Amino acid sequence: MNNIVLFGPPGAGKGTQSELLINKYKLVHISTGDLFRKHLSEGSELGKLAQGYMDEGHLVPDEVVTGMVEDKISSSNKSNGFIFDGFPRTVPQAIALDNLLENLNAPINAMLMLEVPQQELIDRLILRGKSSGRADDRNLEKINTRIKVYEEETLPVANYYREQGKLHPIEGIGSIQSIFERLQKALDNQ
Ligand code: AMP
Repeated sequence: MNNIVLFGPPGAGKGTQSELLINKYKLVHISTGDLFRKHLSEGSELGKLAQGYMDEGHLVPDEVVTGMVEDKISSSNKSNGFIFDGFPRTVPQAIALDNLLENLNAPINAMLMLEVPQQELIDRLILRGKSSGRADDRNLEKINTRIKVYEEETLPVANYYREQGKLHPIEGIGSIQSIFERLQKALDNQ
């Protein structure tokens, strides 16, 4: 099994690159942002709970996120592995993920960290907000909050994987194809 964490700030291209990686490596996509948006559109209790946090650009509490990921892993077909996109976003989430995967005897193999300068992130998110319909992409203040939350709460997760020798920093600027090639190189040379 090949379990990958695709990591990076909002607007780094995680969703776009996930799709390409899934096709090539036949992985199951677990995007916590997508899962929350699905719950929201279905009006589920979980969606209602998450909405306030998402609207403000804050993180949904760890127990809620990890419970949702656990459900998704156990309801997924056995596969070549998972690609985690937008998860884990805190160190407790990373520890919870390691525990979940330990039960499956299939640890995280690599953490690919997309690095993109801050102004480029803001420009990309504003552009995405024009077509995505995502409320959290349409307001500069919320975009700035999400980038700040990433720096303060999520960046420590990179150290967690660095200490395990799994962190691969990837330059996240340039064409979609050139970034994809860098990601493949990192995975194929593991
Ligand atoms: P994303 O689509 O990954 O940018 O996520 C959109 C929003 O969903 C985030 O701003 C958070 O409010 C929430 N969210 C997604 N993933 C997580 C996570 N792993 N932990 C906490 N909140 C999350």
